[in-house]
Formats: sequence, C-alpha cells, structure tokens
Amino acid sequence: MADDIDRANDQAQYLLDVALQRSRPIPSSRVSAQFCEDCDDPIPLLRQQTIQGCQTCVICQGLRERRR
Ligand SMILES: [Zn+2]
Repeated sequence: MADDIDRANDQAQYLLDVALQRSRPIPSSRVSAQFCEDCDDPIPLLRQQTIQGCQTCVICQGLRERRR
C-alpha cells in the first residue's frame, strides 16, 4: 500500500521535473521578436510572452493568416 503511494509520488515528481525542464530553456528560435517583422511596430510585451516565437504584431499576423 505504502509502495503504491510512493510510486505515485515519484511519478508526480517526475512529471513536474519534465515540465520544469521544458519550460526553462527557451531556444532562440522561440524567442519573440520585439518589433514586428512586417511593419516594425513594437510588439506588446504581453503578446511576446503569450505567443512564443511570434514575429509580427496582431494586425500583420491577421494579414498573414488571411493570405494563406
Ligand atoms: Zn506589424
């Protein structure tokens, strides 16, 4: 019985470690641009942080998606 609980704790700890490792190092390709690639407007910090690796402002992102 105690073994089962230990095992569950180990697994929870393992999953937590994996999640932390994944969230820590941000590869350079996933760093958001500070300025829009298309119109050079500054990209709001909130958008940079919310969308990893975003390269454009909201307006240009919309234009890009419409072009597809
Ligand atoms: Zn733009």
